[in-house]
Amino acid sequence: MADITADRTEEELAGVPTLEEIERHPMDALLRTERLPHMWCSGCGLGTVLSCFASALIRSELDLDKVSVVSGIGCSGRAAGYLRLDGFHTTHGRAIPFATGLKLANDELKVVVFSGDGDLIAIGGNHFIHAARRNMDLTIICVNNFNYGMTGGQMGPTTPTEGRTSTSPRGNLEHPFNVPNLAAAAGATYVARWTALHARRMEKSIYKALLKPGFNVVEIVSPCPTLFGRFNRAEYGRDMMEFYHQNAVVRHDARPWEVDIGLAGKIICGEFVDIERPTFQERLRDKFGELRPSEALELAHRPPVELEMPFGEDAEPADLSGPLSESASRKLEAPVSEAECVENAGGRLEVLLCGFGGQGIILSGKIIGAGAVLYDDREVTLTQSYGPASRGGACSTALVISDSRILYPHVTHPCVMVAMSQEAYTTYHGQLAEGGLLLIDADLVELGPDANQQVIPIPATRIAEQDLGRRIVANIVMLGALTALTKVISKEAMRKAILDRVPKGTEDLNLEAFQKGYDYGLGVVEGQAGA
Ligand code: SF4
Repeated sequence: MADITADRTEEELAGVPTLEEIERHPMDALLRTERLPHMWCSGCGLGTVLSCFASALIRSELDLDKVSVVSGIGCSGRAAGYLRLDGFHTTHGRAIPFATGLKLANDELKVVVFSGDGDLIAIGGNHFIHAARRNMDLTIICVNNFNYGMTGGQMGPTTPTEGRTSTSPRGNLEHPFNVPNLAAAAGATYVARWTALHARRMEKSIYKALLKPGFNVVEIVSPCPTLFGRFNRAEYGRDMMEFYHQNAVVRHDARPWEVDIGLAGKIICGEFVDIERPTFQERLRDKFGELRPSEALELAHRPPVELEMPFGEDAEPADLSGPLSESASRKLEAPVSEAECVENAGGRLEVLLCGFGGQGIILSGKIIGAGAVLYDDREVTLTQSYGPASRGGACSTALVISDSRILYPHVTHPCVMVAMSQEAYTTYHGQLAEGGLLLIDADLVELGPDANQQVIPIPATRIAEQDLGRRIVANIVMLGALTALTKVISKEAMRKAILDRVPKGTEDLNLEAFQKGYDYGLGVVEGQAGA
């Protein structure tokens, strides 16, 4: 290459970029150049969209250390990997839930979802509408190329009627989603559409969407010449750009339901929605102050103590005035440390808690699980069964607790079982492993005649009501006894997990309930309690 600086004076050379500067692309600071060349086809619109996004981001002056880009699966999904930002390439359709988690965990982040129409509107369609409904503070860039490009050009949720694809070779019979209309109807606060031809306007919209709080959607109609174009007589990128040139019209005043895209009609572009609405995060903050979102959400969904039904709406409260039932007066037949079946299970302990809805069975399982994972450093899986019949019927929580990775999370033969209602006992006790332990609520469960497990009756409901004045903590009394009797997890871990999980203001009551149960359990071990 000729040296263009030769024989020039210093004055003439002022402002002339050096070769090094020429080779450096203005976007280099935002691109992971080590990952280039990119995988997108020649003529694809994705490079233009990425470039406009990068320009808008630079112009926004957002702190790049606090910007995260989340992509789903598809050609557009590669964008997260090319940007020199915190990027996450997630599973198919899950970009929005992943981004939601990210934003909730750290509200200081600007979270951008950069993904395709197939990923966002088909498999991720439900996430899209519900995030819009909640007004999650996310910027969504939806690159709409009318088909599934990466996997072979199949028909997608936005393929125009009569559009040809590899799976609709005679023309699509279905009506496509109108993305702006879907976003607007679901509650998005900013909705715009451009084509890849409208680079400046696209950049301006992305800039706005980045700076405006709320669920903001910019749809970019983008050429996929390799697949959609090839099937529809526009096999070069410039053919599709020419198509946009001839058919795209800007109409900011268009109503979202008027902007359907058809192969024959116009592609109406513009800013269709720009409204104000409190974001989900703002609502959380208004209601729960500075609580961490995870804590606020948990609180938001947890019923107040007064509303919890310790005894199912239809269930008759048990008479706790008399002596313990016959089954409850069984003696402990063997000393309890860990059940025999634990020894035989290679360190994998399966636990099943069951009762009726409203007894806090699910919460009990979560307390054990959280305690074992967070404070005893063990591996845990938890599955729960709480169907529509649980009120007055049977519900359960099943846990696998292990010192090593759990490869099979399902509980088949629990080694430790807690039954807190008759129906739950009847439903589940047959699953108890041979040599396992069964803890029953002494007043609420009558053992069957064929019962041959090692049974330990615990008057949890009686203790909760008579000693503590609140039946609602019977489950925590039972957890105390379980901890003392089985060493499923450590006492300290259980106490910490209880404090983490019970409603604010009830910590002392719950810790007292736990201690009562623990003491009772120790008494059983030492042969002192009245079982
Ligand atoms: Fe772009 Fe289509 Fe190629 Fe994917 S298949 S990179 S969308 S042109």
